[in-house]
Amino acid sequence: MAARKAFELGGVSIAAGTRQTIDLPIADLYTHTRLHMPVRVVHGKRDGPTLFVSAAVHGDEINGVEVIRRLLVSKRLVGLKGTLITVPIVNVQGFLAHTRYTPDRRDVNRSFPGSENGSVAGRLAWRFATEIVARADCGIDLHTAAVHRDNLPQIRADLDDPKTRKLAEAFGAPVMIPSALRDGSLREYAASTGVPMLLYEAGEALRFDEQCIRAGVRGVLNVMRTLGMLTPSKKASRASSAVARGSTWVRAERSGILRTQVGLGERVRKGQQLALVSDPFGESEAPIEAKFGGVVIGRTNLPLVNEGDAVFHIARFADVREAAETVEQFSDETSEWELPEQGPSII
Ligand SMILES: [Zn+2]
Repeated sequence: MAARKAFELGGVSIAAGTRQTIDLPIADLYTHTRLHMPVRVVHGKRDGPTLFVSAAVHGDEINGVEVIRRLLVSKRLVGLKGTLITVPIVNVQGFLAHTRYTPDRRDVNRSFPGSENGSVAGRLAWRFATEIVARADCGIDLHTAAVHRDNLPQIRADLDDPKTRKLAEAFGAPVMIPSALRDGSLREYAASTGVPMLLYEAGEALRFDEQCIRAGVRGVLNVMRTLGMLTPSKKASRASSAVARGSTWVRAERSGILRTQVGLGERVRKGQQLALVSDPFGESEAPIEAKFGGVVIGRTNLPLVNEGDAVFHIARFADVREAAETVEQFSDETSEWELPEQGPSII
């Protein structure tokens, strides 16, 4: 049998059965140094699909960086069929500054397809589009909630597309949300080129959350098994996901100090009191109530709110009881997980 062809990326040739780090050039900086997007490619010995996994498109969303690190040191990649392209830190400048944006306050995830000679956000998008998405059969982009917010692990994807839905189900996050494509997002760009993509949202910005990280590693490995990139594991746990019909933020009706009374993953009923908003003297307080029943999939962690601020993100389900059970089962399971095996970097 002829050896599998090498994988070409950024002018570098990666032989089958090896892995390599490639620094894709983005822009010259005024420090006389160069900005790169670091990519690690694992090119399997045997044929199979190409999957990209990216994180820190928003520079302060760091759970995904740890998901990718654990993925890369996992013994489960031994015998990989196909090619895994990982981009743990897409927005290096945002990651350095602990912020979502590039230094000129652009959002990389609103800058696709980007341009070769544009600003840094546009160049990051362009490089990612032309070097990574163009070579991939599908992708997973790892995010967390924005700063001061927390998300229950969830997959956002185009669930009407059967291919994407299959991958979303395989990932096994407790909740799946059919999510509209945003203009200029990586997901919109990938969809326009026919590359199915999942967006994993879990945890907070600038923090590691063990449960979210473990669910992320498991989810990526599950997707790789479904794609035929890894051999099915006897030990592999297949979790079920509840499919939301939609989701809405409940907002504060007045400004004040917030005391929340429900946590992530909790089922709430229409009219239920979710939090109290008080003035600093304790002289007056007003409740925040659920306008409809559902499960809390996101919330603010900052106990200070202005009127109109988004406080609780609640997902609606056809069968909310069943959805709440799925979420509870996920919490029980993940608390019992062992850490993934972290062997040497072999292929
Ligand atoms: Zn994000």
